[in-house]
Amino acid sequence: MAKEICARVFAIVLALISAVTLRAAEPADILFLNGNVYTVNQRQPHAEAIGVKGERVTFVGSNADAQQFRGDSTRVIDLAGKTVVPGFTDSHCHIFGIGEREMNLNLEGTTTLKDFLAKVGERVAQTEHGKWITGRGWIETFWKPPQFPTRADLDKIAPENPVFLTRADGHAAIANSAALKIAAVTRDTPDPFGGKILKDKHGEPTGMLLDKAQDLVDSKIPPPSDTDREQALLVGVKREIELGWCEIQNAGSELPDQAILGRAFEANKIKLRIYNAAYGPGEAARQLLDIGPTVNAFAHHFTQRTIKVVFDGALGSRGAALLAPYSDKRDTSGYLTQKPEELRPMFEEALRRGIQVETHAIGDRANRTILDLYEQAFNAVPAAARKIAAPRWRVEHAQILSAEDIPRFAKLGVIASMQPSHAISDLFFAPARLGIQRLAGAYAWKSLIKSGATICAGSDAPVERGEPMIEFYAAVARKSIKGEQREGWHPEQAVTRDEALKMLTLNAAYAAFEENDKGTIEPGKLADLTVLSADIMKIAEPEILKTRSIMTVIGGEIVFSRE
Ligand SMILES: [Zn+2]
Repeated sequence: MAKEICARVFAIVLALISAVTLRAAEPADILFLNGNVYTVNQRQPHAEAIGVKGERVTFVGSNADAQQFRGDSTRVIDLAGKTVVPGFTDSHCHIFGIGEREMNLNLEGTTTLKDFLAKVGERVAQTEHGKWITGRGWIETFWKPPQFPTRADLDKIAPENPVFLTRADGHAAIANSAALKIAAVTRDTPDPFGGKILKDKHGEPTGMLLDKAQDLVDSKIPPPSDTDREQALLVGVKREIELGWCEIQNAGSELPDQAILGRAFEANKIKLRIYNAAYGPGEAARQLLDIGPTVNAFAHHFTQRTIKVVFDGALGSRGAALLAPYSDKRDTSGYLTQKPEELRPMFEEALRRGIQVETHAIGDRANRTILDLYEQAFNAVPAAARKIAAPRWRVEHAQILSAEDIPRFAKLGVIASMQPSHAISDLFFAPARLGIQRLAGAYAWKSLIKSGATICAGSDAPVERGEPMIEFYAAVARKSIKGEQREGWHPEQAVTRDEALKMLTLNAAYAAFEENDKGTIEPGKLADLTVLSADIMKIAEPEILKTRSIMTVIGGEIVFSRE
């Protein structure tokens, strides 16, 4: 009883305080009215109006109450019933690669080997003899037959130019004979650790290089100039803002790219928020450990506090490390691309210094081993010895999980950073690679949520298209873009629209220690908003894919508007 009275008195006091603040309300810089606002704030899930002052939200509520914030110089924007969500965050993408895809030979959507060779041929015709031809985006799983291209295919159309073309997933590439020659890759070249040089039945390289074997050729390609690299960054940033992303979490960078990022922010060329990871182990991780995190630089636009480890290959090229052999190639179970004993000391140091770790793990063996390594590090460096007691380490992709490993994410406080679009691309070939049984723990969003784990969502662009509506659709429909769903797709693993929205907003913020500033629309938080052409919480599934971002607001600034 006493408790109840206390609660009531408290509520009255709160109401009085808010009435006072309302009367003393400072006029907003911008008032958004007549919106269909999904706030992702449990205490006030839906609203009509948003007030913004400077870079932050000062009001969320009804059109009528919003009038209190209307001053002489307030800009009023009539949303005309349009849907507003907290600014979308892509929790995992590669911003330089996104720009490069726009600038280079883009092989996405090639439906046959012939089509692929025709596109490459066009580029060869425009390129001087001897100059490198590079490109990305092909994927043979949809070709008939679904076979890797060979160097012989490329030699026919490009006898004079070295050619190196990366598969969409970035985990494999095809090189022609001229490129292999420059890299001195022959029948006698051994597989490097964490990679494979595919060879034909006579022992000759086919031109296909998997994971770390790609470096043999890649390291011989003249690197892009800093100017080209900066242009790729800026092209990528522009594209992201137009798609409605307010923040991207860049899943790995080396020191030269970090310098380019820093200069671009200093010159005020980037409006997008970037949460940047440094690749490790290696130079970039070493420097991050030494100088420590950069948090909320350039007015909350740039944070760097994470080491990104790539721990295995990908499923398509059979590089993902599995506990049992591939169902369609019994002589391999994939491979790890880092040695666990080399990660242990880095992980412990990261905990001591308050550095987050995120690790790419696709296969069930990679996932189990990385959870083991995280757990060992957490035990070796107890909370009291850490700079941040709850370190929010992440597993990127967490794609194929053994049933007994699913509950370990919640138990260890490890975040699963997943890409809904990977499921709807991969599920066409995953049954062949894994067999029907193992699919039970593949892209297991719902099981992870039920176990109490936090999932943040991203696109892994340029591996996938990198569009928020594709990710949202994939998460809620778990059907191909054409609406198909086949045996082994586990429709029960689809998530609700509320869950999907949270994965792209609040959970993404949590995965970056940013939930006090971002992830919901509520007073006090940064005014990051994505305005959409349709109500994605209600429309039919296929309509989601037709929905477009029509306005992007970052820190109270309208950085993109379709009108
Ligand atoms: Zn990635």
